[in-house]
Amino acid sequence: MKMQGIPGSPGIAIGKALILKKEKNDVKIETISQDKIDNEIDKLHNALEKAKKQLKAIRENIEKEVGDEKARIFDAQIMMIDDPELISALESKIKEERFSAPAAVKQVIERFAGMFDAMEDEYFKMRGTDIRDIGKRVINILLDNNEIFGELDKEVIIVAEDLTPSAIAQLDTKKVLAFVTKDGSRTSHTSIIARSMGIPAVVGSGEALLDKVEDNSLLIVDGNSGEVYLDPDNNTLEIYEQKIIEYKTELERLAVYSNKKAKTKDGLAIEVAGNIGNIDDLETVLAKGGEAIGLFRTEFLYINRSKIPTEEEQFEVYKKVAERMGKNRVVIRTLDIGADKDVPYLGLPKEMNPFLGYRGIRLCLDKTDIFKPQIRAILRATKYGNLSIMFPMISSLEEVKQAKGIFNEVKMELDNENLEYNENIEIGIMVETPAAVMIADILAEEVDFFSIGTNDLIQYTLAVDRTNEKIADLYSSYHPAILRLIKKTIDEGHKAGIWVGMCGETAGDEFLLPFLLGAGLDEFSMSAISIPKIKESLEKWTREDAEKEMKNILKLKTIEEVKNYLQKVRR
Ligand code: PEP
Ligand code: MG
Repeated sequence: MKMQGIPGSPGIAIGKALILKKEKNDVKIETISQDKIDNEIDKLHNALEKAKKQLKAIRENIEKEVGDEKARIFDAQIMMIDDPELISALESKIKEERFSAPAAVKQVIERFAGMFDAMEDEYFKMRGTDIRDIGKRVINILLDNNEIFGELDKEVIIVAEDLTPSAIAQLDTKKVLAFVTKDGSRTSHTSIIARSMGIPAVVGSGEALLDKVEDNSLLIVDGNSGEVYLDPDNNTLEIYEQKIIEYKTELERLAVYSNKKAKTKDGLAIEVAGNIGNIDDLETVLAKGGEAIGLFRTEFLYINRSKIPTEEEQFEVYKKVAERMGKNRVVIRTLDIGADKDVPYLGLPKEMNPFLGYRGIRLCLDKTDIFKPQIRAILRATKYGNLSIMFPMISSLEEVKQAKGIFNEVKMELDNENLEYNENIEIGIMVETPAAVMIADILAEEVDFFSIGTNDLIQYTLAVDRTNEKIADLYSSYHPAILRLIKKTIDEGHKAGIWVGMCGETAGDEFLLPFLLGAGLDEFSMSAISIPKIKESLEKWTREDAEKEMKNILKLKTIEEVKNYLQKVRR
């Protein structure tokens, strides 16, 4: 059986499925008969034991990958799970009130968490999140939901309704051959993360998939075309085994670009940079030949943990990135959470329209206790390399001024404390709302650079939710409105004498390259996987030839016309 989804991350994989079921939060409060009590208590103890093992394994993994300090976050949970008071409260809920084990866990954990919530001390408040996390884990085990947090004992293709960035961050990704999700789109963060890790993914594959696939079903996942085959016949398997060989050969052919500077046909140097969400991604960008980091999505430092990273923790990360990149630029984007990047421990209320809601710079300007330590950490790290700072989700001059005001306050604080930083750090903004484009001339006077965020710019301009697979075919960077907005941003930036880059996924689209080059884009920043291909395409164009095509492309009236034209002129 063949299913068509959206190509989320390139590459092809053949392997066995592991289905991650959605967490069941709605545990029924049910009672059991007297004769089942002992059995239910056994189940509870087994689940607690299993949860403890999982936590220890995660702790070990994290310690290996990011060091002991982060790993220690899990110590609190490991200790709590053994707490005699908690265990006796759980047992008595089952024995005396005849609750089923999952129902007992749900009620007791909520009571304990509530006690922590009510405490004044920040440290104890955070324990409420820890204990809820334990509760979720134990309930998942009791209900036999496949545990996404556990170690994987063999290579698998992960099949899920949707995968949040934090769920992916907890997976043992070395064993993941591919991802397939029912929901999602090319610019949803699941796809972006999969691309940064070089794992093939098909997203938005629809309802049929989860209905038909079972654990251990054989799958072919083609992240290049978006096709997924369930229980393929031998003929199809042979075709795909061949395709895997061809894809590998293509990657080997492009490997020359890891050490070759990006240049146009007429020798113009263009910065081809990579987007990262953590230090591991940085190595992938370098391996693929990225010459700078055009976007460090720092929100991934905040996701998948139980409390906000401290200034010191952040400083260590920014310093490492700065040192590793040396004189090459690293653009650190300040926290851009909200919408599909949820940080549960901040306890933000649910919103009807999260993409239009309390997110990005709006949240940071409101919560300076979160924003300031981040700016301090970035500034302190400027001593170790070539860092720039960038504010996301800007839609007005006031926001830029306020953000710069806070930035200057932090500078003064550092001066008072005699802490050193690079006085001349560049300040930029993401241009990712239509409002920012329309006032780009005004904003350009305030900053040193623009980086066009097409992922959001497209959704806000075309009114198409970037994560909604039902309308994925309406979401396109080829829409003439988008092309005009891009051109306008570059023109206004250049008029004001600042450089203009792009860090949305569009920067990695080889078909649009002549348009972007011709429009004068100074920097292209993308998922690591796209870097070699873009460098190769750049070598085929002179700026002059590209400019001619850009002018022709701007005259086209529909997505279809643009698409056909780009295919025709592709080199
Ligand atoms: C964008 O919106 O284009 C962008 C690069 O930011 P993010 O994908 O993190 O929203
Ligand atoms: Mg964005």
